[in-house]
Amino acid sequence: MRRKLVAGNWKMHGLKADLPEVAAIAAAARAKPRVDVALCLPFTLIEAGVGAGGGMPVGAQDLHEADKGAHTGCISGPMLIEAGASVVIVGHSERRGDQHETSHDAWAKAAAAHRHGLNVILCCGETEVERDAGRAERIVQSQIEKSLPEGASGDWLTLAYEPRWAIGTGKTPTLEDIAAIHAIARAKLRSMVGDAADGIRILYGGSVTGANAAAILAVDNVDGALVGGASLSAEKFVPIIEAAASL
Ligand code: PEP
Repeated sequence: MRRKLVAGNWKMHGLKADLPEVAAIAAAARAKPRVDVALCLPFTLIEAGVGAGGGMPVGAQDLHEADKGAHTGCISGPMLIEAGASVVIVGHSERRGDQHETSHDAWAKAAAAHRHGLNVILCCGETEVERDAGRAERIVQSQIEKSLPEGASGDWLTLAYEPRWAIGTGKTPTLEDIAAIHAIARAKLRSMVGDAADGIRILYGGSVTGANAAAILAVDNVDGALVGGASLSAEKFVPIIEAAASL
């Protein structure tokens, strides 16, 4: 039985003035010990977020695959570890779009994160054009094939299916479509890592809210949620944690 994970992605939001939200989310997480909760904060807020989180896993939204070097503006795994991060998102669709990152980049970043002892949330998901062309399943399979690092296991890796057209739009796939992609993702993981696939959590991400979380989280092979907008305040995020805890 895989424990549900509800992870927040604060994107480019969050100043020290927002730390009370981190503390409130962490307090709600402690009250629901059946659910794992994590917050991926901007780099600048990680250290303070770890302090405010009182033991709740806090992480980042990207890292560079190199340990150090001439990479202006980038952050490495050892830097994240020193800041207190325990988890990092790689391959998020906004980085694939804005920074033109590829599945190969996601693979290198995931491997580097694991090398430094970070847990990894590896994202995949199709665009609206790809879905309309009937290619969603093939795209997700291909992204997993190209980005899953060697030795992937549920001890440190979580997959997140995030249809790009559902992120921040208020649109979500049907529950049937979510079930279909998660089943395909599970089968792809199985073909690559065998029985270890059973231990790898697959999150759904894309416009999850307190109103739709219970239905989405009850879908087969949905082991939690990666949440953007609704993770920015305890008021919106805690109902998602509670929905996961009620299953
Ligand atoms: C995300 O950024 O990973 C995400 C799912 O965003 P939102 O919940 O706002 O759609």
